Amino acid sequence: MSKQIPVVEGLFAETAAGPRLVGSKCSGCGTPYFPRSPVCHNPDCRDQRVEDATFGPRGTLWSFTIQHYAPPPPVKYDQPFQPYALGLVDLQEGLRILGRISTDNLETLKVGTPVELVVEKLCTAADGNDVTSWKFKLV
Ligand SMILES: [Zn+2]
Repeated sequence: MSKQIPVVEGLFAETAAGPRLVGSKCSGCGTPYFPRSPVCHNPDCRDQRVEDATFGPRGTLWSFTIQHYAPPPPVKYDQPFQPYALGLVDLQEGLRILGRISTDNLETLKVGTPVELVVEKLCTAADGNDVTSWKFKLV
């Protein structure tokens, strides 16, 4: 059986409540960051305390595009290339996140559709293991 290898370590995690994005949040003003930020970038905030935080799973599709052509490296995909949707999702925590949309029917996507964070296979690695990433599925 193949292993599940995250496309990048530390960006997402499986929790008891399901998959979550791993970022940070300012302890002073509450501004969320993904990926993690060591400092708060809010110009009105002077707090230096930033703590780890998790985000998701619920969001709304803000915009999307269909990738019809094979993108250049370092984008990963299996051969032969299959078109996929890339979406911008507004999470309930106030973040707008880029991610692939997990759907078999690209023609039915609509802005404003509720989506949910999932961790799914992105492609097969050279060693046969599954490379995984976060995606958003329609709910
Ligand atoms: Zn702050």
